[in-house]
Amino acid sequence: MKTSWMLIPAAAFAAMAFASPTMAADDGACELTIEGNDAMQFNKDEMSVPASCDEVTITLEHTGEMAASAMGHNWVLAGSDEYEEIAKAGMSEGLDNNYLPEDDDRIIAHTDVVGGGESTSVTFSTEGLEDRDLTFFCSFPGHYAAMNGTFTVTKEEE
Ligand code: ZN
Repeated sequence: MKTSWMLIPAAAFAAMAFASPTMAADDGACELTIEGNDAMQFNKDEMSVPASCDEVTITLEHTGEMAASAMGHNWVLAGSDEYEEIAKAGMSEGLDNNYLPEDDDRIIAHTDVVGGGESTSVTFSTEGLEDRDLTFFCSFPGHYAAMNGTFTVTKEEE
């Protein structure tokens, strides 16, 4: 009897420990949603998260109806002085590679390319991003000039 009695709290403790990294901080502030549409537009041109978020999750919802091959969108994060080069380098990489250069460590985070009615998300660490000038963009060929915005990891107010 004593053995099985001990198993229950141990399992519960393990489950709590596993859940804690995402449950600890203010969840809402660490999860952002952005929309892309058939008119080659994001619905935001700036996004920010507080530095207290160890991780941030970005969800991209394509609210249009067009296929990924015609009007695909993704969400890519890079330095503001590097994103245009990344977008240009990605143009020839094709939909299968999300129109991004392979193994390019200038890319901080990115989602897959999705088409109308689809959504996708990416979770990444904010470590080292706090003072950096960052830009998010869509790397689908021809989109980055219209589909971009600033991304900031903001210090907490006292
Ligand atoms: Zn796009």
